[in-house]
Amino acid sequence: MADASASSAPACDVLLKNAIVLTMNAQFDVFTAGAVAVTGDSIVAVGPEAAALPAREVVDCGGRVVMPGLVNAHTHVPMALLRGLADDLRLDVWLMGYVMPVEREFVSPDFVRLGTSLSCAEMIRSGITCFADMYYFEEAVAEATAAAGLRALCGQTVLKFPSPDAHSYEDSLARAREFITAWKGHPLIVPAPAPHAPYTCTGEILRACAQLAAEFDVPLHTHLSETLTEVEDWRRDHGMPVIPWVKKQGLFDAHVLAAHCVHVDEGEMRTLRNARAGVAHNPSSNLKLGSGVAPVTKMLSLGLTVGIGTDGPASNNDLDMFEEIRLAALLAKGTTGDPTALPATQALLMATRLGAQAVGMGAITGSLEPGKRADLILVDVDALHNTPQFTRDPDAVCARLVYATKSTDVTDVMCNGRWLMRGRALQTLDTVALADGAREYARRIDAFLIAREESVLQKLVAIGGLREEESFEVQVKAPLASDETVRQVIESGEITVIKAVHYHQYDTYFSFADPSQGRLRYREDEFLDEKGTATRVRARLTLIGPSREAELGTVMLFRSRYLAPATHSRRFYREYFRPVEERDVEKDRRRWLVAYRGVEFYVHLDRLMQPARPGFFLEIKSRTWSRRDAQDKAAVILELLAKFGATPGEAFGDGYVDLGAPAAS
Ligand SMILES: [Zn+2]
Repeated sequence: MADASASSAPACDVLLKNAIVLTMNAQFDVFTAGAVAVTGDSIVAVGPEAAALPAREVVDCGGRVVMPGLVNAHTHVPMALLRGLADDLRLDVWLMGYVMPVEREFVSPDFVRLGTSLSCAEMIRSGITCFADMYYFEEAVAEATAAAGLRALCGQTVLKFPSPDAHSYEDSLARAREFITAWKGHPLIVPAPAPHAPYTCTGEILRACAQLAAEFDVPLHTHLSETLTEVEDWRRDHGMPVIPWVKKQGLFDAHVLAAHCVHVDEGEMRTLRNARAGVAHNPSSNLKLGSGVAPVTKMLSLGLTVGIGTDGPASNNDLDMFEEIRLAALLAKGTTGDPTALPATQALLMATRLGAQAVGMGAITGSLEPGKRADLILVDVDALHNTPQFTRDPDAVCARLVYATKSTDVTDVMCNGRWLMRGRALQTLDTVALADGAREYARRIDAFLIAREESVLQKLVAIGGLREEESFEVQVKAPLASDETVRQVIESGEITVIKAVHYHQYDTYFSFADPSQGRLRYREDEFLDEKGTATRVRARLTLIGPSREAELGTVMLFRSRYLAPATHSRRFYREYFRPVEERDVEKDRRRWLVAYRGVEFYVHLDRLMQPARPGFFLEIKSRTWSRRDAQDKAAVILELLAKFGATPGEAFGDGYVDLGAPAAS
């Protein structure tokens, strides 16, 4: 840099002096009476000598700490608007049951801009100058972030299913390309593709995203190995855990920023290190969602680049990096039983220089060194909760920052040479207007969810894949002491058998406080071959409406049904729908599709195992579409029943157990 005394022009724009300068450089230099000089967007000098430089603006730091701005290595900033929407739920119920349905309804460029601005205000206040994001309409995240003056890796989400900003995977990939093309080279924003996670993408999507990132030389942002379930599913379905599988898909052709990595073994950590991937450790989110604790001590000892992130403000629920740093240090000690694990300096390193490397910006930010961008913060370490101070060990300042400092102790923030906060006053954002906007979204989202929670059907619609079946049926049920006659009739050829299947059926009936909501049945059919061995399993969800009509003597005209494929577990539906009562019915079912007197009927011959009942139960039914048709079929169905040697039973209701009688029986 120029020798200031040799020129009449000031050597720098801003000079921060009388500060404890925590450089976080390779030597971890701490200058207890130091200075930092900034010109334009960059740092030009650091150290005690810099204090003598002439400057346009001189800031007397009064003994405060000047340190690199914190790097939040993983978040979803627009989700500030969903903070506190639904808590204390399992990840799948939270994400698929609440967050995604609300996002489909509300997420727009306006939502994203407002949420981003709100998060930027919160992040600036807590000393963050750089973050790695992943969301929809990422161009709106980029615009709002650049306007706030923060630095960010902005990841445009790519998913295998429709999202708020794309109808298909092809659309979302095209969006990512367009976004990267438009923002590449921006002084504050690094655009990136963000395939959400292996379980929400396909191998093809991961490959395409990696190629896109490589083509533009930008990082790729994703979630890997967040939960044990994810890893167990991968082992079961692909014969290997997540990391080697994504490697096989070519994901590491890009510089990968992988959030979470909670459940990875040592071999996978080596794979991540060899791929020069960055890992974002999100202690609060992983704890809150019960995902576990990432083995960061091991990762760091193997030389992995690990940063710290808050994750989205809907799963944390704030963007406080001081909290995350402290938690990272404490968790490492608690989980290893070793208080020397992850010392304060190393925890701070993860939140600064190492975090910057993890998000692919190690060359420009993360430490206070000449040539790097002026991304720095001033922290008051004189607060009551940080008193007294010992001077014997200059590094003790790191411990004070990690174990006793609060985010509210940050007084000033500069990013890219521009002041974003002075004396705790935000310079680029109006928090009153932002809070008003956020309250208005909360009011609308509340109204949407309140209406939805009142209806089981609406809740079913919200998780997708639903179709209504016009299911009016003529149906008769009868108990049988023996299955002999039925088998004889079926085998005799008197009636035409079109199709025969044998399966084991497991039904779970969910009942609700309001019977007009109907009952929800989660059903798993385990198909059996001739030897009785299970060949495949099919899971379905049926919302059975209350009977609209039940008449024609013992033959009933049945009710409406809504069908949906059951893509989640029984446990998911239980936690999502919260039934007041749950009944399990298990039966062995032989099912024939037969033609008799020109009418097609389904004949079910069941043996009840749970609740166990002696004998057999016969059910015959046929679709119908009018009263006249139903009357005609009712006559035939009773004839068929007599042929099977049965008389109509009282056993209406689902699964022959007392689940409440149909309306008019
Ligand atoms: Zn995340």
